[in-house]
Amino acid sequence: MSSFAELLKKGTKILEGSGIREAGLDAWLLLEYVTGKNRAWYFAYSDEMADPEQENRYLELIQKRSSHIPLQHLTHQAFFMGYEFYVDEYVLVPRQDTEVLVETALEVAKDQNDLRILDMCTGSGCILLSLLLEKQGSTGTGVDVSQEALKVAGKNKIQLGLDGRAELLQSDLFSAKELEEDGQYDILISNPPYIPTKEIDTLMEEVKSHDPRLALDGHEDGLYFYRRICTEGRAYLKKGGWLLFEIGCDQGKDVANLMENAGFSQVQIRKDLSGLDRVVFGKWQ
Ligand code: GLN
Repeated sequence: MSSFAELLKKGTKILEGSGIREAGLDAWLLLEYVTGKNRAWYFAYSDEMADPEQENRYLELIQKRSSHIPLQHLTHQAFFMGYEFYVDEYVLVPRQDTEVLVETALEVAKDQNDLRILDMCTGSGCILLSLLLEKQGSTGTGVDVSQEALKVAGKNKIQLGLDGRAELLQSDLFSAKELEEDGQYDILISNPPYIPTKEIDTLMEEVKSHDPRLALDGHEDGLYFYRRICTEGRAYLKKGGWLLFEIGCDQGKDVANLMENAGFSQVQIRKDLSGLDRVVFGKWQ
């Protein structure tokens, strides 16, 4: 039997030994997850004994984290735009950088409340669902090729109370017949897979071994999905609608060119909080 303080120390040490970057923080977050206790409680009672069941559960999770499974895949919890999302190994963990994409969409649509939004490669649904929460009169469609990802998005849709406003559809890009080229969407938004295939193995362990490859692989030059979404996506947008992409930090110029060649205007590049190119967007008219 160990006290909570001993457990935290042990957990931190194991994670440090496995090269986990924020070992102390992750060890704490897992302890919080297993015990349901907050920091204030911990400071007052850290010398108390944990019950053996909690101890086992905690050490089991620490072992998993030490094999570089992302923390959020263990706690099934990720925060995005201030909302809580369920996540598992079938979806990309929502990234803070992606919030720039959502904020840009909110900015281009600031005068409109009843948007129709199409989110291509929706994954956990974080982009579509947070936009719907911010724009109360809006509805949207989230598309993904992965049935497992759609289950996650479906769970989030219910959890966030958006059942009547979001439709989720399995489709390899625009191939599903339910997706009509009706020119009715105000926003086409996408954070598609964009890592060039041969670069995937250079990414950190958490990403290359535990995020779904399908969500990462942008084929040979990383631009496959941008090319297809630029040319095939136009038919789904209203005149005056917007196409917005998240991009890899070295893809700004290439994706801006693809958009201009596909006939989009006012094409702009936005940076993320680290000052790297992260979003490209333009208007369809
Ligand atoms: N749209 C999801 C996200 O931004 C998934 C992206 C993906 O699978 N490439 O998290």
